[in-house]
This record gives sequence, C-alpha cells and structure tokens, in this order.
Amino acid sequence: MDKHKNRVNKLIETIKKTHADFDEAQEKIIWKAYYFAKKNHAGQKRLSGDDYIVHPLATAQSLAEMHFDTTTIIAGIVHDVPEDTGATVADVKALFGREVATIVEGVTKLSKVKYRGMERYAENLRKMFVTMAKDIRSIVVKFCDRIHNLQTLQYQPPQKALRIAKESMEIYAPIANRLGIGEIKSQLEDLAFPYIYPQEHAWVKSVIKDIMKQKERVVTRAKKKIAKELHSNNIEYISITSRVKQLYSLYLKLMTHNKNLDRVYDLIAMRIIVKDVKDCYAVLGILHTIWTPLKGRIKDYIAQPKPNNYQSLHTTIFAERGEIIEVQIRTQEMHDYAEFGIAAHWQYSERRSGTLPPKHKEWIRNLVDWQKEISDSEKYLDNLQKVKLDFFKRRIFVFTPKGDVIDLPEDATPIDFAYHIHTDIGNRCVGSRINNSISSLETPLKNGDVIEIITNKSRNWPNPDWLKIVKTTVARDKIRTSLNKKSGLKSLNLKNPFSK
Ligand code: MN
Repeated sequence: MDKHKNRVNKLIETIKKTHADFDEAQEKIIWKAYYFAKKNHAGQKRLSGDDYIVHPLATAQSLAEMHFDTTTIIAGIVHDVPEDTGATVADVKALFGREVATIVEGVTKLSKVKYRGMERYAENLRKMFVTMAKDIRSIVVKFCDRIHNLQTLQYQPPQKALRIAKESMEIYAPIANRLGIGEIKSQLEDLAFPYIYPQEHAWVKSVIKDIMKQKERVVTRAKKKIAKELHSNNIEYISITSRVKQLYSLYLKLMTHNKNLDRVYDLIAMRIIVKDVKDCYAVLGILHTIWTPLKGRIKDYIAQPKPNNYQSLHTTIFAERGEIIEVQIRTQEMHDYAEFGIAAHWQYSERRSGTLPPKHKEWIRNLVDWQKEISDSEKYLDNLQKVKLDFFKRRIFVFTPKGDVIDLPEDATPIDFAYHIHTDIGNRCVGSRINNSISSLETPLKNGDVIEIITNKSRNWPNPDWLKIVKTTVARDKIRTSLNKKSGLKSLNLKNPFSK
C-alpha cells in the first residue's frame, strides 16, 4: 500500500481551495510528479527515519498553502531529484517542461550556497540573486524546502543544525522579507530562533504566555465592539482577527527597548479586513471615535507603502482598562500581498507563466539596491565593514560551465573572465563560448552568461593587445606580469652564450 498517497490528496485539496483554475489535467501532472519523485527517491530516508518523499511533499504543501502556482508546486515535488538521485534536470524537462526544469535547476544551485560566516556572506547573497533573477520561483521553492528542514532540524547533529539555522536567519529571512513574503520570513525566523538563541527563546516564550493571559479577554471584547460599530455604520468587513506578535520579532523589539514590555505596542495586533480602500479609512475614523489613539502611532502605509510593497493602515489604541492594542486595517488584496508577497502577484496579475507584472520586475531589479541597504543597516555594518559598498555597484555575475559564479565589472570580456579563473587559463586562451556559441574574446559579458574558455596548451603568453581590451585590474596585472616574464626570458636568452 502507498502510505504517502494521503499527503498527495491533501496537497490537491489545498490547491483546489486556492487555485480557481486548477483542473483535472493539472491534477494528473501532480500525481505524475509524485510518482516520478517517489520512484527516484525510493529507498532513501530522512534523518528522522521517514521515507525521503515526505520532504518534497511537505515542501509542495507549503508552496500550495502560500498560493503558489501549480508549476512551482510541481517543481517543489521534484526539487531534490536531480540533486540526490540518478535522474537529471533533462529528465525533469522531458517530463514536466522547461519551466519546471528551470526552477528545479535554480533550486539545485541555491543548495550549493552555504553560510560560511560573515566573510562569505556577501558573496553568497550575490550568488542567490543571480539565480533569483532567472526565475524567482526557484528561491521560493528553496524557502519552503528550508522551512521543512528547519521543522526537522532536531535530527541533525548540533553543529550542522546551528549552521542551517544561522543561514536561514541571516540570508533567507531578509530576502523573504524583501520579497514581501511575511509568512515565510516569520516562519524561517521563528523556526531558527531556538537553535541560535535557546535561552532568549525560552524567555520570550514565557513572556508571551503571561501577556496572553492578561490581554486575551480585552482583545475578545474589543473585537466584538468593533464588529458592532462597523455594522451600525453600514461597513461590511471580511474578517476581524487578532494575532500575537511573532516570537523573534518580539525578541528584537525587547532588545531595542531594554526588555521593557510596556514599550512594545504591537504585542497583540488586531486585523480588520474590508472590501476597499475607502472602507479602510472609514474604519480608522470609527476606531478613533471609540478609543483614544496613541500619539504618533498612526501610520498610513496605503498612501505610502513600505519598500517591500506592504500596504495597510496602522493605529494603536487604548482599549478597555488602558490596554494598548495595535490595529491593522487593509483590503483582502493588501492582506494577501502582506502574507504571500510575490505569490500574490501571480494570483492577481494575469498569469503568463513565469512573468511578473512590469511594475514588479522593476522592483526586483531594485533588490540590488537592497544589498547596499543591508550593508548600511546597523545590524550588518559591523560585520561588513571590510566590504566596500561600491563593490556591489555595476557588477555582473556570470557562470563557469560548472555553475560557479564569477563576479565582474560591467562590460568585462571573456579575457577578464579567463584571468579571474587562473593566470594559465588567461595566458592560454584562444577563444570563448558564451552560452554555447563561439564568441570573440572582446564580447562584453552580460549578467547570467555561461562562459567557457577555449585554451591552447602550446600557447604560453598573452597577446599584448589584450591590455587595451580588458576591464579588470586583475586581468591587466596578470597580463603585464606574464609579458614581463616573457621579455625577461628573452633577454636572458640573448645574454646566454649557450642558448641556441
Ligand atoms: Mn530539499
């Protein structure tokens, strides 16, 4: 009997609930992906003792819960096949098409990005960006893959567990945040938190527990009161809910306020979801007639969205007994964007597969600026002092045929690339293949190009004309050094009476 079929059924149920256009044909592909992954992972086990297939199915399940399109979900099911089994990306492509294959290939590449402490941090980030630019869905599959790995982190040896937790916190979570996927960011942080700061985690957990006891009744009553007032003002609402602040972000906030809980106003936030923007402002007005708002805490992220496109109205009110509660007011669409970020973009935009609405494309390009922003922020500055900020500017990232990333300045040539790999490769280079087609050594390289250098072993010295072509100091220095060596040898030979 196939004991994992129920997981696939659950997955399909989830997709049906969130994807209006999910049809029988797509359902068949989900099953096909499952059988393909199951067959290839046969006999493999997770450290937990589970059959390996449990992991890709869990990954696909969270992708479905975050409203990702079926292409991404299929990629989630087969994401570890090329990495861990005899089957290849080409097999995935033959069975599930180019898009799924591209996403899976990206995931495999991302798996090679490992957190090696701060020194390598910037470099890893850059690597991730390159992959992300190709198809951003690779990175989301990787996030959901990571969420399941964090959920099962207790089976890893402590050192490795810590490494994975840190990597999730320092690299993945900030990117998820930047992509506007608050749901993923929170899950990554809260899952990694106890492994990185066990004592602090326990402390914050106990703090939250006490607070909840104290505030729960006030919040319940406030919700009822809001519902009643909205009704009598003829405002239809979609939902009124409350949520307790995410553990890790509470921890950070407590640290900035000297562990003073009274300074944390959004410990419990209420969320009112209404039909349209007009109603958002109407609700805000109504709230302020019922309760006194806290000065300086009214924020209009609808008129001025956060850099990651987050939109909402925020206010903080003194509820019953002077209890302070934050209220967030937004439309359903804003809410979906806040939780699912780019996933929501796929939902709301015309879904030409893999393409983002133009506005969004531009925003992703802006991600590059974000690298600078991170470097500027207090949190990272100390550790990144050695990294020159302008280093990030106008750089391109290209691949070796093996998939290693080399970063070069804009307009660098295959010769620069060759010298960046090794002086001998530079000196012996006679031609290049860019993205599989023969190209001149002067061709300016573009972001994402795959470059293969053709060498001739009998050639030992660079062409002096290359000094006029190359764009990097590294290449220029190496060419000069080699040319000097060559003329040095010549002059030696001339002076040597025994030479031919
Ligand atoms: Mn995986």
